[in-house]
Amino acid sequence: MSTPESHLEARSAGLPVIGSPARRDDEIRPLKPPVDPSTLTHKQLLGGEFWRRLPAYRDVTEEQFLDHSWQSKHTIIKPEKLLDTVQGLVSPEFIEDCRVGFERAPMSLRVSPYLLSLIDWEHPYEDPLRIQFIPVGSRLLPDHPKLGLDSLHEQADSPVAGLTHRYPDKALFLPLDTCPVYCRFCTRSYAIGVDTDEVEKVHFKAKVERWHAAFTYIASRPELEDIVVSGGDAYNLRPTQVTEIGEALLAIPHIRRIRFATKGPAVMPQKILSDHAWTDAVTAIVEKGRRLHKEVVLHTHFNHPKEITEITERAMNLLHERGIFVRNQTVLQRGVNDTVDTMKLLVKRLGHVNVHPYYVYVHDLVKGVEDLRTTLDTALVLEKHVRGATAGFNTPTFVVDAPGGGGKRDAHSFETYDRENGISVFTSPNVRQGQFYLYYDPLQLLSAEAQERWKDPAQQQRMIDAAIERAKGQVRPFR
Ligand SMILES: *Cc1c(COP(=O)(O)O)cnc(C)c1O
Ligand code: SF4
Repeated sequence: MSTPESHLEARSAGLPVIGSPARRDDEIRPLKPPVDPSTLTHKQLLGGEFWRRLPAYRDVTEEQFLDHSWQSKHTIIKPEKLLDTVQGLVSPEFIEDCRVGFERAPMSLRVSPYLLSLIDWEHPYEDPLRIQFIPVGSRLLPDHPKLGLDSLHEQADSPVAGLTHRYPDKALFLPLDTCPVYCRFCTRSYAIGVDTDEVEKVHFKAKVERWHAAFTYIASRPELEDIVVSGGDAYNLRPTQVTEIGEALLAIPHIRRIRFATKGPAVMPQKILSDHAWTDAVTAIVEKGRRLHKEVVLHTHFNHPKEITEITERAMNLLHERGIFVRNQTVLQRGVNDTVDTMKLLVKRLGHVNVHPYYVYVHDLVKGVEDLRTTLDTALVLEKHVRGATAGFNTPTFVVDAPGGGGKRDAHSFETYDRENGISVFTSPNVRQGQFYLYYDPLQLLSAEAQERWKDPAQQQRMIDAAIERAKGQVRPFR
């Protein structure tokens, strides 16, 4: 019985009191002490003239640094130039290590001054931005035996050059093959950037004929509702090209959603603030879409909380004021964002600047970046710790883009996962019924015995066959 007396007894016994009548309407009972504001690090963004820490940018004014044309003009594409810029800040051994890294990299080099000045050159080996953009020979690892270029089979699902139609109602359009920076882990290293010693690429030039073929195909498919305009990078489209693509797609009656993908906010937020023609062109398409009751948004790609500065905040505030929605896709990378603290900080900080964390991708099997991949298990653990830290709608879904063209799958949805040998098996009923898609953990994170097994092609096949057999036993019929 819940009488006032029994409440008092419960309280004096230290038991929780449910629906206590003793609580007055104006009473506050602090159940836990307030958090010390200094620990809310997601709000503490880097500001000031941080670029002046780099001798090469010591005399660069704020006006110059905030100007996107200054950023573009001083973007570094030659390894020698990069090494010159950091000469004196890093050891000669590190410089030599980079030289070896550049020779073996599948991606060409392209880094903005903004990025360079965010790198901690006193600790270049550990810096999360250095790791993503500047290869060093000593950290490179042999590729997984099951890895190939274009692991996502984008070209196999491509009815027009640069258009991938894999899912029932959405397609991926690659209007161009350049970006404001080049990430050494790019999934599209088969196409993006200039040819390197390692890779001769397929090229998707920004050509009007190819674009028109893509629009014609999209218009001929009533099932298509959603177009991802990726790349390459929408930052590198001229404002007139943003308008042309946006208007062509909005004019197709069955197209309901368009996303322009750009790494830009993470690597050169200055453009949003100072390239008025570009930002206005995007705004105009978003507004035109809104009038047609269609959704046009930006998708971007922040991987580490350090990539979000006060300049980013200003750029994201501008987009927010214009009603432009921004979603984020992160790639999970070893040494960059594979700890609970870093991933939580990234997610909270994205929310703080009104960017919606959409996906965290388990790293694709990309050539030459085996040092960056981690295990599926890491993704599962991180997800558990991130969920609940902030709003559910700001909590990213952890996905595997299933090698072989299975599309994105919830990391938890594997049919089987052989953690010992690092083999997970996925199915993808909306892409191909009855097909199994395999993801492989990096060998270097497996036990010594498992690594030994992977050395023998006959054993490889046995492990893979066993995983598929187990998966067959797992798949439940579903009506
Ligand atoms: C990622 C992707 C899409 C969009 O998928 P969402 O899960 O809706 O973000 C569409 N087509 C291809 C080929 C893709 O890789
Ligand atoms: S910005 Fe995107 S498409 Fe361009 S190199 Fe980086 S990952 Fe690849």
